[in-house]
Amino acid sequence: EGLDAVPDCLFCKIVAGDIPAEIVSTTEYTVAFRDINPQAPTHVLVIPRLHAPDVASLALASPEAAAALLVETRRIAMGEGHDSYRLVFNTGADAGQTVFHAHGHVLAGRGLDWPPG
Ligand code: 5GP
Ligand code: ZN
Repeated sequence: EGLDAVPDCLFCKIVAGDIPAEIVSTTEYTVAFRDINPQAPTHVLVIPRLHAPDVASLALASPEAAAALLVETRRIAMGEGHDSYRLVFNTGADAGQTVFHAHGHVLAGRGLDWPPG
């Protein structure tokens, strides 16, 4: 999996600052921003600066970036005032993945059913 920015990738454009987003945090490895169509009071997307199509591909290509992304999810939830949160990686079109640049959904601030629908 190549990790160079992909010209047509929406999230690479957000990383580059070419498309605006409501940024929540940035680190050496990650950018986090509010989902444009929030499904919970807190709904933040955490993405690697590196392009990888899904989180497993990211972990294979850069374990450091994948670990940094996971650590950042908790930091974001805590920063929003939540010590409980749901972390979701939709992986593959049939699972609802629509943007093929790895991203974790950090969801919190309402009851979260388990198992999910
Ligand atoms: P997926 O369905 O791939 O797991 O998640 C993609 C997410 O990206 C969706 O929740 C969708 O609302 C969000 N999204 C799509 N386009 C944009 C955008 O341009 N800006 C932001 N902030 N979120 C977006
Ligand atoms: Zn990308």
